[in-house]
Amino acid sequence: MPTQMEKVICVTCPKGCTLEVTREAETILKVEKAGCNRGTRYAQQELTDPRRMVATSVRIRGGLHPLLPVHTSAPFPKPRIRELLEALRRVEVQAPVELNQVILPDALGTGIDIRASRSMAPVHSAD
Ligand code: SF4
Repeated sequence: MPTQMEKVICVTCPKGCTLEVTREAETILKVEKAGCNRGTRYAQQELTDPRRMVATSVRIRGGLHPLLPVHTSAPFPKPRIRELLEALRRVEVQAPVELNQVILPDALGTGIDIRASRSMAPVHSAD
């Protein structure tokens, strides 16, 4: 199996080191140009199991606004983000909602919850 070298930008801190990663298939042989040890861990994660925090919104009934901003409780597997967004399009919650309330537990069986990014009070009808 030939070795490959690729560049990966570490986004763990604002320094944004350009890491030079040498790997053979899924095995990382060395990580160079990292400003600290976290760069090595980041490269390993990014090349074998890339994840991202996801922020989006879901529909809310009886709230001050029609949409409630939500976010993942931890970085979510990147290849499944589209599937997650499709699942969240089908979600509708009922006001009131508290900040950080779990809106969708264990999203797609990943163990990662979807939580409210803000609270939202109900709107009381005039009658
Ligand atoms: S390798 Fe270390 S110093 Fe460089 S961006 Fe990543 S966390 Fe920051």
